[in-house]
Amino acid sequence: MSERLILLTNDDGLWAPGLAALARAASRFGRVVTVAPDRNRSAISSALSLHNILRLNQVGPERFACDGTPVDCVLLGICEVLKRQPDWVLSGINHGFNLGEDVFYSGTVGAAFEGRLQGARAAAFSIHPQGSLEEAEPWIQSFLERWEAMELPENRIWNVNLPKGIPQGFKLTTQDSRAYHDLVERRTDPRSTPYYWIGGDAGPTYAKAPGSDAEAVFSGHASVTPLRLDLGCPETLARQADFDATFGA
Ligand code: MN
Repeated sequence: MSERLILLTNDDGLWAPGLAALARAASRFGRVVTVAPDRNRSAISSALSLHNILRLNQVGPERFACDGTPVDCVLLGICEVLKRQPDWVLSGINHGFNLGEDVFYSGTVGAAFEGRLQGARAAAFSIHPQGSLEEAEPWIQSFLERWEAMELPENRIWNVNLPKGIPQGFKLTTQDSRAYHDLVERRTDPRSTPYYWIGGDAGPTYAKAPGSDAEAVFSGHASVTPLRLDLGCPETLARQADFDATFGA
C-alpha cells in the first residue's frame, strides 16, 4: 500500500498550537500536508467563499496559509495543493470543546464534513479549553491507529473531544444538547451607541444525557461521536398518516 496522504486543517488558524499537535500525531501515519486559515475562523461552520477571491501562500514545507474558511482550505488543499483525494482529512485540535449543538457552528467540524464529502475518511478533534495538548497527542495517535478498522457509511465523520487531564479511555457517544445563557450582550461604545457581543462569558450548560459526548468528557473520557450530514428525521417520516391528516387535501 502506498503512503497515506493526510490533509490537515483547523479553524483556529495555521499558527494554533492545536494544529501543530495534530500534525505531530498524524505524521507517523503518512504524508501530512497542512492547509489552514491564516487567522482564527472559529464558529464559521461550513462556510464557503463564493463572492471573494482566495489567496494561498506556502509558509513552509507542506504548509499553506489560506485567507478563506476551513472548508475553503479543504477544497484548495485537495484541488490545488494535493491535486488528488487524500486518504484522511483531519481537523483540529480545536481550542475548546465541540459538543452537542456546537457542531453546527464549528468550523472544525465543518472542515471534517467537507473532507468526507470529498471522499476522504474524516475526523474533527477538540479539547477542553484548559486541556493539555501534550497529554492529548498520544490519545489522538491511538485513535488514528484504530479508526480505519471501523468504517463509517458515506457522509459520516468522527467528532472527537478530549477531556481535561489524561482520558480514562474512549467512549462511543451521542450528540448532547446544551443551552447558552446571556448569549447576546448589549454594551455601549464611547459615543453612546450600543453594540453587541455574542457569546457571553458564562459558557454553556450541557444536558449531559447518559451516553452523550458531554457526559463522556466531563467524566474524564475521550468522547468519540459519529456524526451524519443527513439531518433527516426517520421517526417523523414514519408518521405518514399524521402528515396526511395534517397537510393532506
Ligand atoms: Mn476554533
